[in-house]
Amino acid sequence: MPVLQVEHLTTNYKTLRGWVKACEDVNFQVEKGEAMGLVGESGCGKTTVALSLLKLLPSAGRIRKGRILFNGNDLVKMSDSQIRKIRWKGIAIVFQGAMNALNPVFKISDQITEAIKIHEPSVGRTAARERVETLLEMVGIDSGRADNYPHEFSGGMRQRALIAMALAANPEVLVADEPGTALDVVVQAQILRLLRELKDKLNLSMVFISHDLSIVAETCDKLAIMYAGQVIEYGDTKSIFAKPLHPYTQGLLGAFPSIKGERKKLVSIPGQPPDLLDPPSGCRFNPRCPYVMDICKSVDPKLLPVDETNHLAHCHLYPQE
Ligand code: SF4
Repeated sequence: MPVLQVEHLTTNYKTLRGWVKACEDVNFQVEKGEAMGLVGESGCGKTTVALSLLKLLPSAGRIRKGRILFNGNDLVKMSDSQIRKIRWKGIAIVFQGAMNALNPVFKISDQITEAIKIHEPSVGRTAARERVETLLEMVGIDSGRADNYPHEFSGGMRQRALIAMALAANPEVLVADEPGTALDVVVQAQILRLLRELKDKLNLSMVFISHDLSIVAETCDKLAIMYAGQVIEYGDTKSIFAKPLHPYTQGLLGAFPSIKGERKKLVSIPGQPPDLLDPPSGCRFNPRCPYVMDICKSVDPKLLPVDETNHLAHCHLYPQE
């Protein structure tokens, strides 16, 4: 059984102008020890999916349909108190923006201790301190820095401290929302390497959210590519890079330079992502798609397998049976 199975997840935001359809009929699953990348441009619904997984949506957000099965139990149906037992201990999240997620007036050690004590209130002072130091060492921070304040850490160290906090309750699933985005590329690469090492060492399942295909390529076993609130391509990372099926994925790959491959002109995808208050009818990519057909403007395709490998595309170019 997969650790995490998302079925037909539909999360919308209520506004004065109507429902913003930020996440529609999203399906994926993550096995034990597997890393899945959720990729797409800004505003495509990746973070909405992440916040839905932990039921941490802002007040306007509603899960309107679907199931989120964590070890077979549906989180959508759970009460707030039941969810609190799963949040951090079952599924933890590393938020983007390390400085905003840490409290500037508390020492790093106090913030990690608090995360431990929320789930294990009986843990003693000495044991908690030992755990804090172990966690810091695990993420590559000298335990002698435990009593520093966040402003005494570099950006990379703050991101590492956040990862330590997320691991404080030994979660089974770690959701990493654009980790290291605000950091320079060298530090970002170190954070990604750390996450990969932790995944292997702790046999963690990961949902890795990014707008950057080159980042997920190295980190993730499989990918769910999102466009305008929908998963439009799903499969293992190698298949998607070797043979992208959906015109949007093809466009994304064409927009990234390859260091090892032949030198070619980068091509951008024309147009803008749609307004999710009133997305286009039919396929949401149809106003930007070079292969658009009549059917694309009226019938929303299904995400279906294209071959015998588990490579799925949401597009009328492939059989919709
Ligand atoms: Fe393009 Fe049609 Fe496929 Fe949408 S369904 S991506 S418009 S070909």
